[in-house]
Amino acid sequence: MVSCPRPRISDVPPRTRAAAVAALLLLSGCGGGGDGHAGAAGVGDPYFPKAGNGGYDVTHYDLTLGYTPATRHLTGTAVITARATRHLTSYHLDLTGLDVEEVTVDGEPARTSRAGQELTVRPGTGLREGEVFRTTVRYSGTPRTITDPDGSEEGWLPTADGAVALGEPVGSMAWYPGNHHPSDKAAYDLKVTVPPGLTAVSNGELRSERTLPDGRRTFVWHTGEPMASYLATLAIGKFEVRRTTGKVPGYVAVDPTQVAASRAVLGRLDEVLDWAADNFGPYPFRSTGAVVERPDDAGYALETQNRPFFPGPPELGTFVHELAHQWFGDSVTPRTWRDMWLNEGFATYAEWLWSEDHDGDTAQEIFDSVYAGDYYDSAEAGKAVWAFPPGDPPSADTISDPPVYVRGAMVVHKIRQLLGDDAFYDFLQGWTRTHRHLVADTDDLEAYAEGFAPEADWSAVWDDWLYGEGRPARP
Ligand SMILES: [Zn+2]
Repeated sequence: MVSCPRPRISDVPPRTRAAAVAALLLLSGCGGGGDGHAGAAGVGDPYFPKAGNGGYDVTHYDLTLGYTPATRHLTGTAVITARATRHLTSYHLDLTGLDVEEVTVDGEPARTSRAGQELTVRPGTGLREGEVFRTTVRYSGTPRTITDPDGSEEGWLPTADGAVALGEPVGSMAWYPGNHHPSDKAAYDLKVTVPPGLTAVSNGELRSERTLPDGRRTFVWHTGEPMASYLATLAIGKFEVRRTTGKVPGYVAVDPTQVAASRAVLGRLDEVLDWAADNFGPYPFRSTGAVVERPDDAGYALETQNRPFFPGPPELGTFVHELAHQWFGDSVTPRTWRDMWLNEGFATYAEWLWSEDHDGDTAQEIFDSVYAGDYYDSAEAGKAVWAFPPGDPPSADTISDPPVYVRGAMVVHKIRQLLGDDAFYDFLQGWTRTHRHLVADTDDLEAYAEGFAPEADWSAVWDDWLYGEGRPARP
């Protein structure tokens, strides 16, 4: 492949610089209509084809935001540092709603257009393959709540005293532009200014908080470890904040109305993390914590990185589940949404292991009960587990259905049965170690697991339990 240097033509006025550069590139056999490309509008996810974008890899998001709950008005500046993975004449960012006021690339004005969730950026100068470039997007407006194919709500959710941003699978495009697909993880810095008396909680570590002369407050958060954008969160409101000082420093923010009812479970944070580290390997991040809002602020808990989100006081099992996701999903992230069971099967299995290790039913007993159909109160719920194979959900509206969670956990249990306990725990810890902070798919998991027992017959695990239709004939 030809490497095309980016000409410097400082003596050309900015307005005509793009045309001059294009002419030079054409003369040199580079760019122009030659091997210049428009970056793809999606990364090819089987369920969310427009999610993410092709042609570049984001390394860092720097977000400066202001939000006023009373007016639901958000102002934002996103500085997105990325590396071009091919020669680009234009590329896409995902952003839904909001008004884009200005876009620059490396400080130079860029042309833009919008269609649906695609914000197309045409820099004045083509971008070379391998070139690191910075896109700055200034935007504002009222962020949207997105209704997913399965009917759940994500994106930007107004709450009783503020708002919370939840992004699985595609909601993060409601509050900042980016490459919104789990396959492109990046570091984050987030600076948020909110009205007097409110707190802004996000991922990573709180670098500073200060009160401005007018009483507004600015919070600066830093996430150094790579994060998939669906795990980015921002919770704005009144919070009672408690810092924990276990092996991993924690920042726990709880809506004041939920503090008393949350205390017992949240007080077990360090204990759960210690237990999880014993089973899954070292905790993958520099900080931990939790965010608890009111029960009607969202319909579900989410494993937002570093500090999972809970709508109301968490049940212990849910707390274990979301903390287990810090290993399975947040550190080892699914390559596409088809690989969702790598998140949910393992996080659900973590609940089973917790039960087994704490005088509850063993994972084998839970497995048997699910298989027999008496794990659930209703026969209908018992049957739902077998609706489709966890390795291949039939559509976007099913990626969070019971087969992905519960039958996914059963696949993990089948791996355990085949390997035996010693090798199984080596497998769990090796998986999180070798794929730490990376993305992985189901083929990676199969190959990795088989490495622990290359001579064994894995066909029942994969063909029947992971990919087979209906309830496998034998438990
Ligand atoms: Zn989960």
